[in-house]
Amino acid sequence: MIRVTLWYENVQEEGIASAAMTESASEEERERILRDLKEGSERIRRQYPDGLMGTIAGALRKEKDLEVTCVTQQMPECGLTQELLENTDVLIWWAHVAHEEVPDEIAYRVVRRVQAGMGFIPLHSAHKSRPFMYLLGTTGTLSWREGDFCRVWTVSPSHPIAKGIPESIELSEEEMYGEPFDIPKPDDTVFISWYSGGEVFRSGCTWTRGYGKIFYFQPGHETSPSYHNPYILKIIANAIRWAAPEIVRERFDCPNVPMSPEEKRKNAGRI
Ligand code: ZN
Repeated sequence: MIRVTLWYENVQEEGIASAAMTESASEEERERILRDLKEGSERIRRQYPDGLMGTIAGALRKEKDLEVTCVTQQMPECGLTQELLENTDVLIWWAHVAHEEVPDEIAYRVVRRVQAGMGFIPLHSAHKSRPFMYLLGTTGTLSWREGDFCRVWTVSPSHPIAKGIPESIELSEEEMYGEPFDIPKPDDTVFISWYSGGEVFRSGCTWTRGYGKIFYFQPGHETSPSYHNPYILKIIANAIRWAAPEIVRERFDCPNVPMSPEEKRKNAGRI
């Protein structure tokens, strides 16, 4: 069994106002922010009655070789205890509006686990998440525009992540993400998306960092129906199997990844 952990920010779907959103707001502004949050939450729930992450989890749980655990940012330690990460083969990450609310301590815990061998699949707006930026060393910035028709082209048909995926997939509505996408040159570009505005985007890219494999996949705006599309779900399942580790290092020393005192002790004397 491949042990998959789905990490979900869950702020918009729950309509949660962060401290940063309301701390300097007047009473009137505060009411408007809370009203907008409620409307946003209702839009997501209309599109995904089982929840955005619940929809992905439901699809993955039908796959016999996957064992799925769901956690959210609202849980203690953002749901990412050391113990859970050590029992995760592949971590999926969906986040949008509260990237900075994942403390560096947790973000680097993820980075170290990927360096040791855990697979990592950041989805959609996770291109600005801390683990993604820290692992790749770039800002992840891109251009974007709200809802548009999107065609996802399979440009590496022989890649394991493209197994069973047609030449192209039509998405009736998806948020436009466009180039330039500030990422290091991918090991493989598996998908490129085209939008009716004429933009193109490297929407499915792979890298390795240490022993870990990373796949970024763009479709999945919270109010677009992409996670109802069977091909999008199949790509995520394929990516999990591709990213599942062959080998995990128990100990390692990586000078650019901050370590806790306990990890420093464990790594003492190792190069
Ligand atoms: Zn989006």
